[in-house]
Amino acid sequence: MTQSVAFIGLGAMGWHMASHLPKLGIEVRVWNRTEQKAHDHAAQFGTKAVAIEQAVAADVIISCLPTSADIEALIAKYPPKSGAVWVDCTSGVPDSAKQLAQALKKIGAAYLDAPVSGQTIGAERGTLTVMVGGDEQAFRIAHPIIQAFAGLIEYVGESGAGFAVKAVNNTLMATHLWALAEGLTVLKAQNVDLNSALNCINHSSGQSGISQNIMAQRVLSREFPKTFALDLLQKDIGIAIDLVQQKTLELDILERIQQQFNRIEKHQAKQLDFSAAIQILERDTQLELKI
Ligand code: NDP
Repeated sequence: MTQSVAFIGLGAMGWHMASHLPKLGIEVRVWNRTEQKAHDHAAQFGTKAVAIEQAVAADVIISCLPTSADIEALIAKYPPKSGAVWVDCTSGVPDSAKQLAQALKKIGAAYLDAPVSGQTIGAERGTLTVMVGGDEQAFRIAHPIIQAFAGLIEYVGESGAGFAVKAVNNTLMATHLWALAEGLTVLKAQNVDLNSALNCINHSSGQSGISQNIMAQRVLSREFPKTFALDLLQKDIGIAIDLVQQKTLELDILERIQQQFNRIEKHQAKQLDFSAAIQILERDTQLELKI
């Protein structure tokens, strides 16, 4: 039975995800690289700020760091105990998930790739979609813990499957964003009111999560609030394109989307919300998408 859970990585997503765990009624340990954030979290949500050694000694460990490389480095230095389940909510690399699952199995622990979707607002509301790959017995142990911050939990297959689904999902999100921006650019050139156009699209077959929740709120408003950094989306598209290339598939649209999103340098992309990628298109066309 799970008696303790630890959350590692109190960033834009992890801060909110970990805030739902105290309702489970078990000990909730939190660790963050910048230690003060863990103390602030403990004060606000009743979690317990601990040293990394205590975090990885929990029965279930949840992590949400930027990349698989960050997780690999952490686990190499601070492996979990035998019998533990590590639930990695990072948007990571499928091959890394397979290797980590094998490495942890050797010490009697389990690793699940369990990336999340739903943006920071979904994390705050506890309604994230969680796509899980890995050992099914470990999944059953982790399920009630994941439920604390999830709206949908879907077991998608063996190790790496969760990361693969997440990478494809985010590449589709980027595709929707770019395609909608191109569509609105055409309408702007035709002197159509963009607010009215978007309202029509949102009640028609061209709608998407991007048309409903991102375009007006972040792009047309010119606010581009940073909740999901563009460099993280570039990483996710890169993971999806690696999968395409591993299987020598020729998938033209996805690869062209990567080219567009990679036109912003990584160091600059780190500072921007993903929606700001549209400013590249605006520069190309000399047409600004504002109301
Ligand atoms: P943030 O950059 O906001 O947070 C990253 C967290 O990881 C921070 O707690 C940071 O600590 C910690 N961290 C960074 N590098 C290391 C390291 N080398 N060792 C230990 N800790 C480290 O990222 P997000 O929360 O936005 O994203 C986390 C993951 O979730 C990413 O994989 C992202 O792609 C994914 N994701 C993000 C969404 C979003 O809307 N933001 C939506 C869905 C998934 P410190 O405080 O010290 O910097």
